[in-house]
Order: sequence, then structure tokens, then C-alpha cells
Amino acid sequence: MDPSATPTHCPYCALQCGMTLTPAPDGTVEVGERPDFPVNRGALCGKGRTAPAVLSSRVRLTSPLVRENGVLTPATWDEALGRIAEGLSSIRSAHGPDALGVFGGGGLTNEKAYSLGKFARLVLGTSQIDYNGRFCMSSAAAAGTRAFGLDRGLPFPLEDIPRTGCVILVGSNLAETMPPALRYLTELRDNGGTLIVVDPRRTRSAEQADLHLAPRPGTDLALAAGLLHLVVAEGRTDEEFIRERTSGWEDARAAAMAHWPEYVERMTGVPVPQLREAVRLFCEPEAAMVLTARGPEQQSKGTDTVGAWINLCLATGRAGRPLSGYGCLTGQGNGQGGREHGQKADQLPGYRKLTDPAARRHVAGVWGVDPDSLPGPGRSAYELLDALGGDVRALLLMGSNPVVSAPRAAHVEERLRSLDLLAVCDVVLSETAALADVVLPVTQWAEESGTTTSLEGRVLLRRRAITPPEGVRSDLEVLHELAARLGVEKGFPTDPEEVFEELRRASAGGPADYSGITYRRLAEENGVFWPCPANVEDPAAPVRAPGAAGVAPASGGRRPGAPVGVHPGTPRLFLDRFATEDGLARFVSVAHRAAAEEPDDAYPVVLTTGRVVAQYQSGAQTRRVDELNAAAPGPFVELHPHLARRLGAAEGDPVAVVSRRGRAVAPARITPSIRPDTVFMPFHWPGEGRANTLTNPALDPVSRMPEFKVCAVRVEAVATVKAAVGPESGEALEAGSEPAAATQVSEAATA
Ligand code: SF4
Repeated sequence: MDPSATPTHCPYCALQCGMTLTPAPDGTVEVGERPDFPVNRGALCGKGRTAPAVLSSRVRLTSPLVRENGVLTPATWDEALGRIAEGLSSIRSAHGPDALGVFGGGGLTNEKAYSLGKFARLVLGTSQIDYNGRFCMSSAAAAGTRAFGLDRGLPFPLEDIPRTGCVILVGSNLAETMPPALRYLTELRDNGGTLIVVDPRRTRSAEQADLHLAPRPGTDLALAAGLLHLVVAEGRTDEEFIRERTSGWEDARAAAMAHWPEYVERMTGVPVPQLREAVRLFCEPEAAMVLTARGPEQQSKGTDTVGAWINLCLATGRAGRPLSGYGCLTGQGNGQGGREHGQKADQLPGYRKLTDPAARRHVAGVWGVDPDSLPGPGRSAYELLDALGGDVRALLLMGSNPVVSAPRAAHVEERLRSLDLLAVCDVVLSETAALADVVLPVTQWAEESGTTTSLEGRVLLRRRAITPPEGVRSDLEVLHELAARLGVEKGFPTDPEEVFEELRRASAGGPADYSGITYRRLAEENGVFWPCPANVEDPAAPVRAPGAAGVAPASGGRRPGAPVGVHPGTPRLFLDRFATEDGLARFVSVAHRAAAEEPDDAYPVVLTTGRVVAQYQSGAQTRRVDELNAAAPGPFVELHPHLARRLGAAEGDPVAVVSRRGRAVAPARITPSIRPDTVFMPFHWPGEGRANTLTNPALDPVSRMPEFKVCAVRVEAVATVKAAVGPESGEALEAGSEPAAATQVSEAATA
């Protein structure tokens, strides 16, 4: 490796691909391969390869902005921070601490997520903090915790996938969302394993499958329960596993038996022979896995839907055993770590519960405060956004762009506008930053160090590779400065490693125990899997023998060569026992129920939303990259030829999609790969083609996750329409998508 190259990780998705960064003489940054990192072995998708373009984007913010007479105007850091601190202080005095809201993101490093949670609870004293990870995989987290006593996206490393016998991939299009991960599925099939993809669309991932099941959106629970019915009916349950390692089977079994194959076919549209074939493929090999992503999770019954898939795993003994299990393919770069360290409304660092007195005592002890001074749980993300302008009068927002990514986005936008104070930290003037009273320009991934936790539960070190541009500060510096202005002089270090050292102590003994992980270890190892306590409970534990093909064996014991007392980390969970009190996995009794909004005469079609390969989440970063815009220039409505014919729409014609919450217009993309009763829109764009104008904020009762994946719409041909949102970059994007008064900004504010 070039000695001037810095080994680090991609800023985008939860795969956290390894890469190197090398500053070039012309001031740009070159991305290099890092074949030593085992997860992606050097492969990167287009987003990762082009990520440095955002570092030097001409629309990069390099000066704080404050709104003066309706216009965002460059200001000094002192003025901008002073305005935020004064605003927070006066609103708290007038309305109490819960009038102050804090909104974080699943892309923030562990250090930032930790500090943001601490800032909200300790400095502001508010319970009103949550983050956009609530939109991402909270249903899987809730279902995993309910069944296994612990939520870690994948309880096994990705390297196990090629060696299992069958994978059911539910509602994940990883060929587009994380392309380097596709090789694990390719290798699975090369090794003789089979792949079943469950998706209403014939996606690029579905094209790889041995069997593609295309259920109507919102019916994944019925599908999973129907498969379990067949497992029972065909005598394919693993009675010994059920008896020795689970509880609650009888109720779950009874609920599943109500899902007759013909009933499931009627509900889902998946023919009975395909159901039987799926059961055969899943049950015949010795080991198998179910992997879910946003499809089953982003539903108003997402927790139960994931629970139904977990039931299938448990009933067949495909959990807590080598090469078998249920896992969630987390989406955002630090979607896993982001939910472990305190920016979630109900959690304290270490994945502790805010309602647990012992957890409050432990964390308060680390923070040096009275446990009783810590507020209780607050609202979930959408509920918090919905409350803006009501009892929540101010919002500090980091690492999120809810104007594009939140459900019922026009309403959320209106709520943001109604605030007394909106302060946003970002690298560009995102659609949400454009509404702010104060915008703080912050450093990006390559300009700062920090840790993330990948979808495998592997804690990784992102290293600073370049010097940030003049005028920007890190999120940690922002929190340090604001805390000081609000009277808390200590406890908010600006050095990420110092924050991590405190996080280690705060997480010690918690479910997500990072206390044995250090920056030094992360620099020397290719990441460390949590839980990793500071000390191995039994330092005399035998050194583990390497597993087959050099793969690390199950949890427990020390790595060969590891010093006594140093915990090796835990690549594989639950092999000996589940993390519940009695060590047993819990079945849940679940039954199909309708989506919050089913099609009817007025809105006869189902809308489902998702991502495309060349854009990432709200597009705040990737829409600033020319190469990615060329590949994915704007929104579209994917619809079946039958539906297009009924509308009289041809390829590329503008079509309007209308829900009870609004109307979006985008060009038609006609393909037989989608069900005739369903349309698909990617959600990366603002403006006229914003998919989230349409989506339904109906929440799952447990995870409080909105139902992005299914809502009722009607589709109309548009005779004439002004140019649908197209290639966007920079000022034109902001100027075109928001009223002028809200978005005017001096060019002096950008690089
Ligand atoms: Fe980055 Fe994800 Fe692409 Fe890997 S797959 S390069 S982590 S966006």
C-alpha cells in the first residue's frame, strides 16, 4: 500500500467497505482498494469510488449561516453558536427543557451519536431526542430484541453466508444497495446453496435467485406465517431445538396454522407451489438463513413481520447454530452503532434502556450526574417531527435530511418551518438546512476520525485522511462549544478518541459492550465485533482452534495468540444460549393484518419506495456527484406495462402519483418486473418527484417505524408538466426546490 494512503472506510452504507484515501497534488483525493479488508476485499460501488467528490464540492459549506431578514447570511462561528445557544436557552426558560428537540442520524459516528445523546440529556435536559435510524431498521431491532434478547443486525459475519445451505432474502435489493455484498450470494450459489428472494419487484437481486417470490407489498407477514404452516404440515419442524432452545412455540404454532396455503396465496399473490418449493429449499439443507431489510421492516406491522420470519428460523432450528440464523441487513453507515449509544429516544449508551434504574445509575455515574436528573424516554422520530412547532419549539439537527427522507414529507417540512429555532449541522445546504435559522458547516468522514459499527456488528475505525477546509468544524466541536455556552464546561471533548474512551466506560456491562475495544486495536485489527468486554471473564479460557477454512470459530475463548485477558470480540452470537434471561429464544404469536392503508376505489394502486444503486438515502451527498447524477439523474415511477396501457402512458411520460398526503410527478419507467397492482418510486429526490410526499406515517406500535413500504395511491397520466426533476447539483437544486426566501444564501458561504 502507498505509504501516503490512509486506510479507512466508505462514508455511506452499513457494509462500510474498506478503502484507502490518498491526497493528490491537485488537491483532490484518490480512492484506492483495500484488499486486506475482508468484507469487500477491495470492491467498491460507484458511490464509494466517487465519495471524495463531496469533499471538494463547489456547494460545500465553509461558513456558518444565520437567517437575517429571511435570508441565510454568512456569519462568524461566534455569532452562529451564540444565536443557537441563546435561542435554546430562552426557549427552555419559557417552555421547559422538553421544548428543545434533537434529531440525529444513522450516519453519525459512534462518538457523535454518544455525544449528541449526552448533550440532549445532560446539557439541554430534554427527553426529545431521536434519529433517522428509526426510519431504517428499528422494526428488526425490536423483533430481534424480543426474540433473542439482543439486537445486532447480523449475529454472524457475512463470510458465513456462502457456507450455508439456503438464504431467504426478504425485501432487500442488495445488488443495488450494497453491490459488493452480492458476491456472498453468488458464492453461496457457486457452493451449491440456494437463494430465495422475496420482493414485489423482480430486482437485480431477485434475478440472481433460484426462486423469486413476489408478494403484494405489506403481506410479508402472511407469507412467512404461511411458510411456517407448511413447515408444520410437512413435519419439517426441529422438535429438539424447539424444546431445548425456545419458548412460546405452541401459541406461535397455533397462529401460523391459521395461515392456510390457499389463504396465503390469496393474501400475497404467491402461488401455493412456490410456497411449497420455498419450504423445500429452506428446510432440506442442514443450515439456512433469513436476511431481512427494509421491505418487511418499514411497515406498520414491521416488528411482527420480522417476528414471523424469526419464527420460521426457530421452528426449523435455523438460529443459534453455526451457519444458520436470522439477520437484518442494516442500511445506514452507522445504523447499528447509531442505535446503541444514546441518540435513540429510549436508550442510553451500551444499548441500555433509559427506563432501567441500574442503567441510569451506571451511565449517570460515568457522566458524573444524579441519575434522577436524566430525563425519561422521548418521542420517536416521526412523532418528534410531527410535534415541531407545537410543544417542541426548537430543533438541533445533525446528519439528517428529513425534508426528503421523512414520511409525509410536506407536512414535516411545514412543521420544520413553524419552529422558533432550527439549527442544522451539515456539509452542504441540504433541503432541511435550507429551512434553518442557523446552519453550521461541519467536517466530513475523511476529515475526521471516528468509529462506526457495520451491519455485522463489527466496530471499525475511520481515520482522518485529509485536512478539512478552512471555516468548518467537527460536530464534536459544535457540541463542545454549545455545551460551554449553556454552562457545561466539561464533559464534551473534541478529540474522538477521548470520546470513545468515555463511551467504552459507559457501555461496559451493557448489551453492546465496547469496553474491550480501543482505537489501537481497531487500527491493528480489521475491526472488532461487539460485545467485547474489557476483560475476558475467564482469562484461563482455552485458546480457540481456528475454524474450517480459517474462519474464526464460535463465540467464547481467546483468539490464537491473543494476550490472556483480552477479549477477542464476538463474531457469532447465540451459539450457546440466547441473550434472554432464561437463555431461550422466544417465539411470538403473530397473524396477518392489513396495511394501515389498503387500496380502494379512490386509491387503487400500492406504492412502494426504495433506493437505486447510484444514489444514497436523501441524496444530500450523492446528488452533488456528477458521475452519480449522470447514472441516476432523477426520480421515476416504475410501473407495469398493463398499468401503463390503462393510463395511456409511454416510457418517459410524466405520470402523477397521488396519495391522501400529496401528489408527486415523475417520468414513467415501464417494466414487467413489477407487479401490475404496484408502483415503485425511489426516494432520493426533493421537489416535484419527492416520493415521501406520498408515504404514510402510520407507525408500528412497537418500533414506531413508519410504513414507507406500502400506501394506497392512484396513478394519473399528466398531459403537460413542467420538466420533471432532473439532474441536480448545487445552487440550482436549492433554488428550484424551496421558496426563495427560505433558501437564499450568499455564494460566500460555499467552497
Ligand atoms: Fe460504500 Fe456501501 Fe458502496 Fe461499499 S457498498 S462502497 S460501503 S456505499
